[in-house]
Amino acid sequence: MNIVDEPRAKAGTTYSRRQMKRGDRLLLKVLDMRGQEDLARVFIAELADGSRIEFVESVQPPLPRERKWVLIVSTLKGCPIGCPMCDAGGDYRGKLTAEEILAQIEYMVRRRYPDGRVPASKLKIQFARMGDPALNEAVLRALELLPLRLKAPTLMPCISTVAPRGTERFFELLLGIKRKHYPEGRFQMQFSVHTTDEEARRRLIPAKTWTFEQMAAYGDRFFAAGDRKIALNFAPAVGFPLEPERLVEYFSPDRFLIKLTPINPTVSATRSGLVGLIDPSDESACHRVADRFRKAGYDTILSIGELRENEIGSNCGMYVAQLALHPPHQTTGSMRLGTGGCR
Ligand code: SF4
Repeated sequence: MNIVDEPRAKAGTTYSRRQMKRGDRLLLKVLDMRGQEDLARVFIAELADGSRIEFVESVQPPLPRERKWVLIVSTLKGCPIGCPMCDAGGDYRGKLTAEEILAQIEYMVRRRYPDGRVPASKLKIQFARMGDPALNEAVLRALELLPLRLKAPTLMPCISTVAPRGTERFFELLLGIKRKHYPEGRFQMQFSVHTTDEEARRRLIPAKTWTFEQMAAYGDRFFAAGDRKIALNFAPAVGFPLEPERLVEYFSPDRFLIKLTPINPTVSATRSGLVGLIDPSDESACHRVADRFRKAGYDTILSIGELRENEIGSNCGMYVAQLALHPPHQTTGSMRLGTGGCR
C-alpha cells in the first residue's frame, strides 16, 4: 500500500535560520539550540499549534560527521506510555504530522547542507525522541517521503518501539515500506525490551504491548536476507530479571541481536529510583552483562556513548519541560537538555 501524498511531496520547502516552512505553511520554529558541535546538539522547537518538541543531531567521536551523522526526531508531542525511565511521558498532546516529522529532519539537514545533499557515508535517522513511533502512522508517510526529500544515498532510518498493542496495522505497513524503500541493510528495527520477564516489563513499560511471542513472529517476517539483525534493546535495571537464555525460546540469534544501554539520568529515572546495570563508570561490569547475552548466542552491542552526552542531554532528558520553566535567556550552561525516547 502506497501512502505517499505525491503532490505534497513535490511542494517546496523553505528554510530560514530558525524556521522550516512548506509552501506558505510554517511547520516549526526553533526556539533554542544547545550542545556541542563535536558531539551533539539538541534543538527545541515550537509547532504551529504552540506545542513544543525537540530533536537531536549527533556524531560518534572519533568518527567525523562526514563518516557518520545521526539525527533523532520526535513523532509525538510527549508520549502517552510514560515509561519510568523517560521524560517524554506525561504531558501527551497528540501526534505530529508527516510534514512536522520531516521538518525536523530537513531543518537539521539544510542548516548544514542547503541543497539537501548529505555527504555523510552513513546517515542514520532515528524515530526515537519524544514518543513511540508505532503510535503514529504519519511516521510511515514520512518514511516514504524521505528518499524524495533528501539526496542521501546512505540514509538508514531506525524505528525504535516498545511494540504497543493495537498497532498491528502500523507494523504491517512498515514491513512493505522497508521492503520497497530500505531493503538490504538500509533499515534498523529495534524493540525496547529491558527485562527478560514479561510481567516485570509491565513495570518498565506501563502499557499493553506485544508479547515476546508476537515480537518474535513479526521479526521473523520482517527480517530478510541482507537485512540488519533486529535489535532487542535493554537498558537493564537492578531488580528486574535478566536471563538471556529465556530469550532464545522466542528470539533467534540468527535474526535478533542485543543492544545494551545505560539508563539515562533523566528526572523520571531518578524519581523512580531506577538503577541501571550498565554503568559507564564500571566497564568490566558492563562487559560481564554483555558476556551473558553472548553466551546465549547473541551478537551483543554495548552502546554506552559519551558521558558528555549526559550533560548535553542528547540521549535523554527534559529540555522541553525545563525550557518552559526557564526561557532561553534564563537557561544555564549546566542545564541538561532533551527528552527521552524509545531507545
Ligand atoms: S521510552 Fe518511548 S514509549 Fe516509553 S515514555 Fe519514552 S518515548 Fe514513550
